[in-house]
Amino acid sequence: MPTPTWIAGDLVIQRIDETELPPQTGPWLLPDATPDVVTGEPWLRPDFADADGVLRLTTHSFAVTAGGLRVLVDTGIGNGKTRANPAWHDLDTPYLSRLAAAGHAPEDIDLVVLTHLHTDHVGWNTRADGTGWTPTFPNARYVTARAEWDYWASADLDEPRRAMFRDSVHPIRDAGLLDLADVPPQGVELAPGVRLLPTPGHTPGHVAVALGDGAAVITGDCVHHPVQLRHPAITSCVDIDPRQAVESRRRLLASLAGTGTLLLGSHFPAPTGGLVERDGESFRLVPGDDHHVAFIVSRPVGEAAV
Ligand SMILES: [Zn+2]
Repeated sequence: MPTPTWIAGDLVIQRIDETELPPQTGPWLLPDATPDVVTGEPWLRPDFADADGVLRLTTHSFAVTAGGLRVLVDTGIGNGKTRANPAWHDLDTPYLSRLAAAGHAPEDIDLVVLTHLHTDHVGWNTRADGTGWTPTFPNARYVTARAEWDYWASADLDEPRRAMFRDSVHPIRDAGLLDLADVPPQGVELAPGVRLLPTPGHTPGHVAVALGDGAAVITGDCVHHPVQLRHPAITSCVDIDPRQAVESRRRLLASLAGTGTLLLGSHFPAPTGGLVERDGESFRLVPGDDHHVAFIVSRPVGEAAV
């Protein structure tokens, strides 16, 4: 199964699939994206929604090679984790085999960027080693925004979230692998071609990730689904500050509209990326062309449009 890949100059971006989320995910996560709203946007079908207006959502990482550095953006749900959400509980996916097929052994990863500290973005930070949880990427620096760390460090966490920190975040901190980035309003460059963009709201320290010189932006959960391009005011049930999340989403989309920068969604199913175009007061995701980023995307077997 070929790895979906985007190339711009010496920048290579690969989608490392974890899992498709079940159909009940959309109505839970984005309750205002009702079937009427979704079927009202024919461009969402068949890739991003089915004929009945049920949203398609996936979890995956992006493996980025930039200037010789190997970067992983977000780490999915992870295998074997005890989770309250049945769709995320005790997964057994071939994620690491897919990463290897894309050319990356865990030891090769230099940098892991965590857009935020939610369960479905930190899972492969660690893997079971028989006695506990050990960092999956032992030679990587793991980076998240300082504001993100500070928020969760002082929050009154419920037990499921405490468990997530215990099995997926604290082991990387305890191994001395976690770095906290100060992210000013204009963003911060972590490495040549890898820039964190503050996009707070979903969580207080949430970042999107800009790659190359205007080549691509990875959404994190600033945009969960392409329906939010047409309806940026649709918020997610887990936004900590929904009003701020809408502001961040509108600002990010406005900054990308018409620029030729590829938008890559952290939960967008194949084809996952596209260009942002203005559509009246809001936006639309249109298939990319090869003017800016050379697309060599191939649709993996089993994800064929229906
Ligand atoms: Zn997420």
